[in-house]
Amino acid sequence: MLEFIDSHAHLADPAFDSDRETVVERARMAGARAIVCIGESIDAAERAAALANAHSGFLFATAGVHPHDAADFEPQRDEAAIRSLITRGAVAIGECGLDYHYDHSPRPAQRRAFAAQLVLAGEYRRPVVVHTRDADDDTRAMVVEAGSAGVVGVLHCYTGSMPLAAAALAVGWYVSFSGIITFKKWERDDVVRAVPADRLLAESDSPYLAPVPHRGKRNEPAWVSLTVSRLAAVRGVDPAALGGQTAENAARLFGLG
Ligand SMILES: [Zn+2]
Ligand SMILES: [Zn+2]
Repeated sequence: MLEFIDSHAHLADPAFDSDRETVVERARMAGARAIVCIGESIDAAERAAALANAHSGFLFATAGVHPHDAADFEPQRDEAAIRSLITRGAVAIGECGLDYHYDHSPRPAQRRAFAAQLVLAGEYRRPVVVHTRDADDDTRAMVVEAGSAGVVGVLHCYTGSMPLAAAALAVGWYVSFSGIITFKKWERDDVVRAVPADRLLAESDSPYLAPVPHRGKRNEPAWVSLTVSRLAAVRGVDPAALGGQTAENAARLFGLG
C-alpha cells in the first residue's frame, strides 16, 4: 500500500461535521501515516487543536490567520491566541500568506498579518504554512527575508511560478502540491519536476480541490494517494517510494517524530 502524510487538510471545516471520524478512519485505511489539520482562523485552530488531542500521534494542528481574513487581524488579540495554541501543541504557524487573486482583504493588511506570523514562527522556531496566489513578488520578498533569518516553511497547494518556488527552495523551504496537479488544465509539470525529492510534500487541501476522478466532490485526505501517484508519474519514480519520501519530508518539516 501507498503510504503518505496529508500535509494540509481543513478537517475542522464544517463540511466534515457529519462524518469526521469516518473520514479520518478512511484516511488511515488508505495509507495515511498522519494528517496536518490546518487552523486557518483562531476558531478553526481551536477546533483543529481539539481534533489533534483526540487523535494524538495521527492528527496534528496548526494555528494562524488566512490572508482572506487579514483585514480582521488584530495583532494583540490574535498573536496571543496563536501563542497559546503553540504552547498547547500546534506544530506550525498558518495558514497565512498573500492572496492577490481574491483580494478579500486589502493587500497592506495581508502583508501586515503575514509579517506578524512570520515573526512568531521565528520566535517559536515553528515552520510556516504559506498560502500564495497571484502574489509572487511580495511572497518571494517576505519568504526570502524570513528564510534568511532561519524560518522554514512550505508553499502549500503550489500553483505559482518557477522563480518563486526556486527562491523558497533556496532558503530551505518546501513545496506542496494538491489535487490540482491531476486536473486537465494543470500545465506546470516543470515545477513539479524542479522540486528536490527531499523538499516535496503532498496535500489534500480538503474539503476543497478533490483530485480526478473525484473532482467537484468534497475532498478528503484518503484521496492524497491519487495526488501522490500523479506526482510520481510526472517525476518518473515509484509511487510507493514517493509517498514514503513525501511523508518523511512532512514529518521532518513539522517535527512529527
Ligand atoms: Zn490555502
Ligand atoms: Zn488551506
